[in-house]
Amino acid sequence: MTVPQITLNDGHTIPQLGYGVFKVDPEETERLVSLALETGYRHIDTAAVYGNEEGVGRAIASSGIPRDELFITTKLWNSEQGSARARAAIETSLEKLGLDRVDLYLIHWPRPDLDLYVETWRQLETFRDEGLATSIGVSNFHRPHLERLLAETETVPAVDQVELHPAFAQTELRTYLDDHGIRTEAWGPLGQGKYDLFGEPAVSDAAAAHGVTPAQVVIRWHLDHGTILFPKSSTPERIAQNFDVFGFDLTADEVAAIDALDRGQRVGSDPDTATF
Ligand code: NAD
Repeated sequence: MTVPQITLNDGHTIPQLGYGVFKVDPEETERLVSLALETGYRHIDTAAVYGNEEGVGRAIASSGIPRDELFITTKLWNSEQGSARARAAIETSLEKLGLDRVDLYLIHWPRPDLDLYVETWRQLETFRDEGLATSIGVSNFHRPHLERLLAETETVPAVDQVELHPAFAQTELRTYLDDHGIRTEAWGPLGQGKYDLFGEPAVSDAAAAHGVTPAQVVIRWHLDHGTILFPKSSTPERIAQNFDVFGFDLTADEVAAIDALDRGQRVGSDPDTATF
């Protein structure tokens, strides 16, 4: 199984499909990430606030996989925005991960109420220049937040990691990201199980037609749109299943039917108003 590599605007590449560990129990993280790596995943998405970077680090260390074959993302939590705090935060993350650099470091949320994200972005540029992060990007940034970064700083983010699933397809934001060379990463790619996505005929009919599961159909839909994603599961069979998505192709009609499920339905917080 070959996972496509997506080229970022800084020339580095990222595996399009990875394993995300939001809400993976810190006690179970090492075992589950090890399993993911044995399955073939090479891209792991974590964050300081998930509390499981140490487990990710232990799994990396014991895997024996050469560092340059792995792609590790972590994120700066909101309370650590601002220059001095951001440096301490990335140093702590690297220590927990047991790494001297991450492949991608993200500002987790813009928190426009703090008005620190431009200053924080300049700090991430420094981290990149120092080699602590190979690529830098943002998460949950809307167009006005991105417009400020583009106007006031030197670096266009490599990615924007946003909530994105069939009922919340983010088509307008995506057009802006595409136009500016910013790659789209989907969080909650399966809708976090918060609505009956798998029971939608557009999904279940395609699953039946191809002899795959509804989750595999949704993952394929994301891949076909060029989205980078890292579905989360704590169930070994599903971790394997979510990676086994390269043996079938959706038809154009099937993709269009899933596109038609978009109804602007968030399952998570609105970045404009989130204050956590
Ligand atoms: P997700 O859409 O990946 O949903 C995960 C849930 O889907 C699981 O708990 C499970 O119940 C179900 N599931 C997974 N595989 C399945 C399968 N094969 N069959 C049936 N059900 C299945 O949601 P997520 O975990 O929120 O998003 C994925 C990753 O995105 C996270 O782990 C994290 O790395 C990242 N994330 C980032 C942010 C952010 O603010 N940047 C927010 C949330 C998540």
